Amino acid sequence: MSRFDRNRTEKQGIDERRESMVRRTIADRGVRDPHVLAAMRTVRRERFIDPSLEDSAYQDSPLPIEKGQTISQPFIVALMAEQARIGPSDRVLEVGTGSGYGAAVLGCIAAEVWTIERHPELVENAAQVLRDEGFDNVHVVEGDGTLGWPDAAPFDAIVVTAGAPGAPDALCGQLVDGGRLIIPVGQSRRSQELVRITRRGDSFETEDLAAVRFVPLVGDEGW
Ligand code: SAM
Repeated sequence: MSRFDRNRTEKQGIDERRESMVRRTIADRGVRDPHVLAAMRTVRRERFIDPSLEDSAYQDSPLPIEKGQTISQPFIVALMAEQARIGPSDRVLEVGTGSGYGAAVLGCIAAEVWTIERHPELVENAAQVLRDEGFDNVHVVEGDGTLGWPDAAPFDAIVVTAGAPGAPDALCGQLVDGGRLIIPVGQSRRSQELVRITRRGDSFETEDLAAVRFVPLVGDEGW
């Protein structure tokens, strides 16, 4: 960060920085869904990261969290939520809780959210901060998200926040008819294509959305 940026950051309050990020790096880059923009304005990203990183909370970049994982870039969180076409009565599964930030954004838009994480420490931290921030409609569970969460299936939308070699059959099978799976897929662990897979009865339609780079989805139907 340059000295000019640092001075400007210090002068702006954290709420102004959140508003400015939503306007300049999310709305101006094409995210239009009013529910998504309202969610991005509501969730306090600084609560989901280490306090030492607070000055970077509203930079549009991923940041490190525990267990060598990352909190996703805000623009990508907003893009995935928009492309999942989530409505207020929807039941949503997120695979890859990480910090819990993405789940909080989804929780502002949907009726109920289940979010699954493979690292128990991240499950505990995310559940605590989501409780503290008042997200009573977000349920954090531990497990291998490549297998989905059959106890709460089917889902109107599933959002996967780690890169997979392909779309897990279990996740496709846990969509309602018309349900959307948003997932980064690619044969390299380093870069992927973000796709939307829509269930139409027993068939599935795939659309390419954007080139992305996520940490690997590790599990039975992942890497
Ligand atoms: N959505 C998160 C946030 O807002 O902080 C960012 C998630 S981070 C990019 C990806 C997460 O997926 C990591 O926390 C990682 O441990 C988790 N993950 C990877 N494979 C998984 C699996 N099979 N089941 C559940 N979580 C998994």
